[in-house]
Amino acid sequence: MSQKEKIKQYFQEHNERITREVVALTSRLVKEKTVNVVSAKLPEHPYLKFRGEEYRCGNIVKEFLNNANIPYQEFARMEGRPNIIGTLGKNESGKRLLMPGHMDIVPAGDGWDTDPFETYEKDGKLFGRGTLDDKGPLASILVAGKIMKELGLADELKGQLMLAALSDEEAEDPDGIDYGIGYLLEENLIDPTYSIIPDIGENMVNIDIAEKGRTVFKIIARGKQAHGSTPERGVNAVYMMARLVKEIEKMKFDYTPHPVLGHPTLNLGEINGGAAPNIVPGSCEITLDIRTVPGMTREKVIQQLTNLTQKVQGEFEVSVMSWNEPHAIDPKNEVVDAIQKNAREVLGFEPQCFGMGGGTYAKTLNVAGVTSVGWGPGDDEMFHVANEFVDIKQLVDFAMMTCLVAVDLLN
Ligand SMILES: [Zn+2]
Repeated sequence: MSQKEKIKQYFQEHNERITREVVALTSRLVKEKTVNVVSAKLPEHPYLKFRGEEYRCGNIVKEFLNNANIPYQEFARMEGRPNIIGTLGKNESGKRLLMPGHMDIVPAGDGWDTDPFETYEKDGKLFGRGTLDDKGPLASILVAGKIMKELGLADELKGQLMLAALSDEEAEDPDGIDYGIGYLLEENLIDPTYSIIPDIGENMVNIDIAEKGRTVFKIIARGKQAHGSTPERGVNAVYMMARLVKEIEKMKFDYTPHPVLGHPTLNLGEINGGAAPNIVPGSCEITLDIRTVPGMTREKVIQQLTNLTQKVQGEFEVSVMSWNEPHAIDPKNEVVDAIQKNAREVLGFEPQCFGMGGGTYAKTLNVAGVTSVGWGPGDDEMFHVANEFVDIKQLVDFAMMTCLVAVDLLN
């Protein structure tokens, strides 16, 4: 029997046991409040000593890998924020497939019907913060590794399958210091050939091969303060900004539509101005989240925003708060081929390539030269919302696909 036949048969015969194992592991991970917020927001989460506290999930991951007899390495830029990488296979072919899941989560937020950190099952779905993003998919990957080991296939792999539980995906401090994938790549601690990132939802029907650039711009309107009883002596920066905001709402970027990514987007997400009712506001600022497509440079976007400010009366200052480039990879690559072929055979459909406005590890990895795509279980509308859930059958299917794709890519 071929390796892939063995995998398919095993999943068929042990479906119930595998399902229980994935659900149990996900539920244990969800119990740990590995909430990652920027440092400025830490006081809102008094149960946290530091951002993320991913070691809480890291301990569970290490216990699981130990029990499964899978060797692992641990890398941490800071104690308490580990990255754990279990390795299967021999590295004879020189090919390494990285399957990462992140251990941190966004805050629970309001609106939950039940305790966000205690999972429950209903209609084939598993509810709880992180069941989809990203603890459920992480559990799938770990269980897939354990099954490869049980079947004796792990040692037959000519390349290496890297099962990674990573820190620090959900929030980035203004200092830009990364404790997760960025740290591993900057320090040359890992060198994968391929990567599949199960952090996009899309119910496994779409493969993310392109992501827009994520940028944040700030615009400040500069007026002149005065006493609120004599507004004629000041220049009201809020009025100035109001005029500019009208222009921004109508703004059209100068760009060429991208075949996969389409059009850029702009969101005016914050506005701040004024200090008290009896003061004419001397300044007012807005921040814009702009998602770019290839061809839109930093200079061009600054120029367009500056041109816009010149259309309205007043003094404005445009600056870039953060900038990252869009990326798009050729859809004809081994990773996409392996996913499509196995999905066709086992899941009965062929996932299609598409581009996203959101960002995942795939961008960081592609920029570092690793052929990476986003692909995984769950519904994309369930990210970062109350009553987050994941489809349990999809978690099990994803575990099986991890095994099958690894066999194809690494042998
Ligand atoms: Zn995520």
